[in-house]
Amino acid sequence: MWTRLWTRLKGDFHLAIVVMFGTITVLGITPFAFFRFMVGQRAIGILDMLIVSGIAAGSVYAWRTGRTVGAANFMSVTYSIGCIAVAHLAGLPGVLWVYPVLVANFLLVGRWPALLISTLAVAAITASDAALASNLQKVMFVTTSVVMSLFSFVFASRAELQRSQLEAIAVQDPLTGAINRRGMQAELEIAIASSIRSGIPLGFLIFDLDRFKQVNDSFGHEAGDDVLVQVAELVRRSTRVNDRFFRLGGEEFGLLLPGANTGALWSIAEKLRMAVDGEVQCRGRGITISIGAAPFRPGESATDWLARADAAMYRAKRSGRNCTVIDVRTGDGDPERAASSPGAGFAGD
Ligand code: GH3
Ligand code: MG
Ligand code: MG
Repeated sequence: MWTRLWTRLKGDFHLAIVVMFGTITVLGITPFAFFRFMVGQRAIGILDMLIVSGIAAGSVYAWRTGRTVGAANFMSVTYSIGCIAVAHLAGLPGVLWVYPVLVANFLLVGRWPALLISTLAVAAITASDAALASNLQKVMFVTTSVVMSLFSFVFASRAELQRSQLEAIAVQDPLTGAINRRGMQAELEIAIASSIRSGIPLGFLIFDLDRFKQVNDSFGHEAGDDVLVQVAELVRRSTRVNDRFFRLGGEEFGLLLPGANTGALWSIAEKLRMAVDGEVQCRGRGITISIGAAPFRPGESATDWLARADAAMYRAKRSGRNCTVIDVRTGDGDPERAASSPGAGFAGD
């Protein structure tokens, strides 16, 4: 059980932060609340218990539902309102809570919402004469909390930038810049859901470099890598912004083409095949690709869809390479048919 709990926290950074704040708050503030009751400060004791309950509820909600963003927003607002109330009731000693609350805000929510919530909290405390008695105290308080917020803002900005860079690296193939298999899964799910919702067709195209082993064997692995980069650049030049380009492994690539029906798939594939044939070279030797493509059939899984494109690609290899085969089966009962190039028309009828 502990291993499962630890694995989940390790895999979800935001959940770990939310749970950490929940635990620290319950363990750290509950004794304060009892102390307040013991010395007769009932109002602050009740307030402390309200803060503890709110924060604990937020962490439990995040743990149960996985909705960490909503829970973190709620916790940040709870901390800030609690801090304003404690400062108002307890005076200067209560004001000191604002510093950990400012840090908590920037760790829990995005930097802009954190800046907004923190500014409102600091403004509300500054406006309270019960919290800060003199103008000098107010000026000192505003200065120190602005410095604290700015440091936290810069830190949060750097952390967000690094996280988005790491996320991009995790789904990108370093050699060609194409999206790797891990990233492809998410892209496919989004594209399929959107195609089903809108009724707009969706095409997938798989291509594999022909006799690529010979290129490596004749000119070396680095020359082979250079060919892969040339092909990737050509694909990027000849596709649209909504198209998604994947490296499926080795010298095999995929293209997800929103809006492409069978006819469009055919012309995109042939344009690409002819462009590679005409433009990509390795030390004067021409490079070609074999393409398999399949339009998405509503109701089929992403795995089945890609398997059809893959099988079409292998038919292209068997047909002599440097050609396109499209799986045009429309559904159950439809005979297997394929359109192939150059010159073969439809095969398999
Ligand atoms: P086919 O036309 O049937 O596809 O023949 P092929 O030689 O291209 O296919 P095969 O699967 O036999 O060989 C693929 C080769 O691709 C083997 C491997 O050396 C090469 N390869 C895979 N990944 C890379 C890479 O990242 N860089 C380089 N340079 N070569 C790679
Ligand atoms: Mg190959
Ligand atoms: Mg291959």
